[in-house]
Amino acid sequence: MKKEYRIGTIGSHTALQIFKGAHDEGFKTTALCRKGKDRLYTEFYKHLTDKAIVVDNLSDYPKIEPQLIKDNTILIPHGSFVAHLGMEQNRSIKAMYYGNKKVLDWESDRLKQLEWMKNAGLNVPKQFSSASHIDRPVIIKLFGAAGGRGYFLCKNEQDFNEQKSRVKGSDFVIQEYIVGNTVYIHYFYSPLTGKLEVTSIDRRYETNVDSLGRIPLRNQKNIDIEPSFVVIGNYSLVLRESMLQEAYEMGERVVAYSKKIAGPKGLFGPFCLETVVTPDLKFYVIEISARIVAGTNLFISGSPYSDLMYGTPMSTGRRIAKEIKDAINQERLDEILG
Ligand code: AMP
Ligand code: AMP
Repeated sequence: MKKEYRIGTIGSHTALQIFKGAHDEGFKTTALCRKGKDRLYTEFYKHLTDKAIVVDNLSDYPKIEPQLIKDNTILIPHGSFVAHLGMEQNRSIKAMYYGNKKVLDWESDRLKQLEWMKNAGLNVPKQFSSASHIDRPVIIKLFGAAGGRGYFLCKNEQDFNEQKSRVKGSDFVIQEYIVGNTVYIHYFYSPLTGKLEVTSIDRRYETNVDSLGRIPLRNQKNIDIEPSFVVIGNYSLVLRESMLQEAYEMGERVVAYSKKIAGPKGLFGPFCLETVVTPDLKFYVIEISARIVAGTNLFISGSPYSDLMYGTPMSTGRRIAKEIKDAINQERLDEILG
């Protein structure tokens, strides 16, 4: 590599995976950490962090940005970026940023996201514009509720009306509740090769909904249990091989339509489709995450799918670093920065 580049990210979410992948591909790493939340990067996995910038609050980001620019640091956005920097600050990052920022507007707005999914020809749960139309069990999702906190279920319209004080003053969507298995498909699209890869697949481990089946209905009846969907970790999954082609095709359509809504570059790099699969083997897509998702942390040594593709341990973090290295070597870096 001619010029020295570094790979940097905020110390949380998938940072360890990103740093390990960066090292595997020969990059130095920089961690941006909040004081008190830095020990993974400055102590326990110090060997993965070549430089740690520790600040009281990540809203101090503009103060550290000149240093990142001077170091030729390429920032890799993950799930904590918007949470810690805020949407506006994220948008106005001037340091090199891997990914297309224009996709953020579509990812963060539930209604825009639904439009994207529908126009990409994905099967999505029915959305109800008003409570009076509810004709089946629904899940109520408050806008901005992260990680499934603040969602609740309603059996019918009457049940919604009884619970509606919970949505007071907030924007929310009323969505058909799909009874099936959650399958979170991780993808990587490379504009350098024009190829889409399914990199891995996970299921989320959500408390308490994933443990309700352990309590027989007879016992549940006497306790007031409210299902919640707070994610505490992830476990891995492989799909029936006969379902894999459809998984690829859904990803292809999401990438193709993104070029219409987010400029010619569209969506590239890692992304995830969150799906629920019903007994008739239908995928219902509930969300698009347009960046690396935390479920990829299961696959730091690669996944069955990355093994089929590469034959070497290729995490999503490493795949990102490889893409950056290839872009640098081909003098095409501008195609993957946004
Ligand atoms: P954190 O860095 O843990 O504060 O998480 C930042 C965002 O990523 C939150 O919206 C979390 O809900 C989401 N997140 C964190 N870890 C996971 C995970 N293991 N699976 C799915 N989402 C996650
Ligand atoms: P989300 O914030 O959209 O990722 O949803 C968090 C969790 O809520 C998911 O992982 C699912 O377990 C559950 N969930 C969300 N939407 C639906 C749906 N329409 N049907 C069934 N489960 C859902």
